[in-house]
Amino acid sequence: MSTENILIVEDEPVVALDLQQTLQEMGHQVCGIYTSMDAAIQGVETHQPSLVLMDIHLQGKGDGIEACQEIYEQWQLPVIFLTAYADEKTVRRAAIAKPFGYLTKPYNKKDLNAVIQVARSRHDAELALAKSEQKLAIAIEAAELGTWEWESQLDRLTGDERFRLIWGTGLQPFVAGLAAMLSRVHPDDLLGVEGTLQTLGFFKCEFRARRDSGEYAWLEMFGNLRIRSADQHIVIGALRDITPRKEMEERLRQASIVFSTISEAIMILNANGLVLSVNPSFSKLSGYSELEVINHPSQEYLINRREPIISYKNIALTSSGFWAGEVGCLCKNGDILQTLLHICTVRDQNGEVLQFVQTFSDISAIREAEHQLVHLAYHDPLTGLGNRYLLDQNLQSELVRAQSHGRTVAIMFIDLDGFKAINDSLGHHIGDRVIQESASRIVNQIRRHDEAIRLGGDEFVVMIPDVITQSEGFVVANKILKALSQPIQLDEQKLVIGASIGLAFFPQDGHELSDLLSAADSAMYEAKRQGKGRVCAYSSDLVENVRTRLNIEQGMHGALERNEFVLFYQPVVDLYESRLLGFEALIRWNHPEFGVLGPDKFIAIAEETGLIEPIGAWVLDTAVAQLKQWSVFGRSDLMMAVNASVRQFRGDAFLNQLKNVLKRHEINPKQLEIEITESMLQDFHSIRKMVQGMRELGVSVAIDDFGTGYSSLALLKHLPITRIKIDRSFIISLPGTARDVGLISAIMQMANSLELDVTAEGVETFDQSQILRTMGSPAVQGYFFAHPKAAEEYSADWIKRSSVNGFFIGEKRAD
Ligand code: C2E
Ligand code: MG
Ligand code: MG
Repeated sequence: MSTENILIVEDEPVVALDLQQTLQEMGHQVCGIYTSMDAAIQGVETHQPSLVLMDIHLQGKGDGIEACQEIYEQWQLPVIFLTAYADEKTVRRAAIAKPFGYLTKPYNKKDLNAVIQVARSRHDAELALAKSEQKLAIAIEAAELGTWEWESQLDRLTGDERFRLIWGTGLQPFVAGLAAMLSRVHPDDLLGVEGTLQTLGFFKCEFRARRDSGEYAWLEMFGNLRIRSADQHIVIGALRDITPRKEMEERLRQASIVFSTISEAIMILNANGLVLSVNPSFSKLSGYSELEVINHPSQEYLINRREPIISYKNIALTSSGFWAGEVGCLCKNGDILQTLLHICTVRDQNGEVLQFVQTFSDISAIREAEHQLVHLAYHDPLTGLGNRYLLDQNLQSELVRAQSHGRTVAIMFIDLDGFKAINDSLGHHIGDRVIQESASRIVNQIRRHDEAIRLGGDEFVVMIPDVITQSEGFVVANKILKALSQPIQLDEQKLVIGASIGLAFFPQDGHELSDLLSAADSAMYEAKRQGKGRVCAYSSDLVENVRTRLNIEQGMHGALERNEFVLFYQPVVDLYESRLLGFEALIRWNHPEFGVLGPDKFIAIAEETGLIEPIGAWVLDTAVAQLKQWSVFGRSDLMMAVNASVRQFRGDAFLNQLKNVLKRHEINPKQLEIEITESMLQDFHSIRKMVQGMRELGVSVAIDDFGTGYSSLALLKHLPITRIKIDRSFIISLPGTARDVGLISAIMQMANSLELDVTAEGVETFDQSQILRTMGSPAVQGYFFAHPKAAEEYSADWIKRSSVNGFFIGEKRAD
């Protein structure tokens, strides 16, 4: 028997003392005796007894029944009434107060003992029940469960607050039946739910249910179905909203799909940087299976040049917990793949680091593209040679090196000769191939650490670091020159170009890159000026020449308008009869600064700038007008030879010009002869068309400077020309050797068999004229007979007399 700590409420002191004694004899303790309700409540508060023995009649206001109610409500203490009253009214009132026992006075000890023991065990049971109820309530609350019940007989749902919260207002317990609940279930899940609700015993299911808002929520339902009788089923169940969990699951599912299918390689590390898992892309990228990397430090697979060790601790310390950078990923086969690495810290709610997620994106393609871009930026796409930027870069560093070692650097400026004509007449695609071929020839002539650059167009620069003597620079330049002068075979065409090369040396000719380049450029212009196809080195007086050239180029604009051009006319003589056949019109420029300039000083520039077209048109018109004037003087049989440049042959403009000029000056087309140079024949087909056009107009066509180019004699057969003019360089060698004579006579025989007229140019001596005479007496032109002179120099009388045989013999005697 347990010892109770009992508080006695009794207004009769004698009874109270007796009771105290009895209780103590029974082994209990008495913690206080009170006589009124207020004092009793006070005493309970103070002593916290385990049991109260309560008289119903008390002193003062209130009685034991009221005190009992108060004590039970406040402290849930067991109270036993001990009273003299046993009338029905009192007993009924007392019952309402739910006492733990009712004993009438006088009591006997046995009864008191029994009542106390019953009260104790009932109180213990009540306490235990309350505790388990409380536990259940906490559990339901914690699980966020709504509880519900359904009885089949009444078809009535009952549910708690949360049940209503989950279903919303549309499903009022006590009003709605099971059908109302089922009507909210998603059609796809309805069969399952109905089936579950017919399973005896414990059940559990998940389904979607429509909320008031119309959206579906995921619900989880547990319950127990009992059958009381055939038609009475009872379901007691619990329900909860698992929408957030379902959404989370869905997100996790998506994340796991992403993890396993994304092309980026992902590594998940624990807080210490050891690998927890990797996705298939990582295995694909690195060649390592998941098993091979798990539990290894992630660092084993990273190669970071900038920061040797990536510190996960430091990354976690940053506010973003994030790091990104370029890192090499060490693959199983030993390759290092360039990747962009992202490291992201994963924390729990308290901010503690749980994991790191590491993503690798393969950027080797990007790096490759970057390299290509850099290559493009520094190289010429046509030839693959470096470009100006590369030259700037490399030459600068080369100069610094040469400076510190006291070495000489040679800079070569190469410009192709005759390229423009090819590009203009044959088109850019042929021009491009010529440039490519030239580039590769240049490269073949230089050493590995020499550098060839294409500046643009047909200009190249070659840098030779570390030449010992300047003559070494000349040797290389001449090798390149020779290589570039070999004919280029493109498909069926054989093209001839050459090059003019300017040389400058560091440190003699300049210390700065720009100075050296412009020195080499000036030297190249000098090479052009001296007749192309040669190497020139820079010297300070070259600067003057370049300045002149610039002046010429600028002055040429407007020179036509200012009437600065004049035509000189050089007689063409019939060698056999020694009479005047006609003239060749040769242009001169009365330059306001430099005086009279010959065509070698400005025709090439006019061709480059395109000014040759208006100038050429002026020459044609002026020469034909002059021819007309001389016919008026009585020589309507004279020939007039006019030089044309390839640039004038673009389109149909030239033929139209010819037509107009002949018409305007009423000249017999046969009197006009257009001279084209042998180098123009490189574009054979279009030149042939042009020659054909001129021939159809009745105009004669001569090939000038014959023998200097590479035109095949066989080709001439297919070209309706009327004359060849043997170049001065052949005549100059006369009398010369038998070989020189043989060459000229072979040309004359060939011309003869093709029924072509021949003019020999540059006859300067009597001997030369005599030798030519023995070979078949062609038409001749040369200082021996006459220099080119302005039209005014030829008087009407001179023109008239010139038709007489032997006229030039007389002229020579007069000299
Ligand atoms: P080309 O057509 O071969 O003209 C002959 C050149 O030889 C002329 O030089 C002439 O003065 C020169 N010459 C004539 N006889 C002798 C001689 O006995 N000894 C020497 N040493 N030279 C002689 P020029 O006038 O300086 O003309 C040079 C070139 O300029 C011409 O060569 C021609 O290709 C070009 N040219 C002249 N006028 C024109 C023009 O109006 N249009 C075009 N497109 N070119 C022209
Ligand atoms: Mg000529
Ligand atoms: Mg000539």
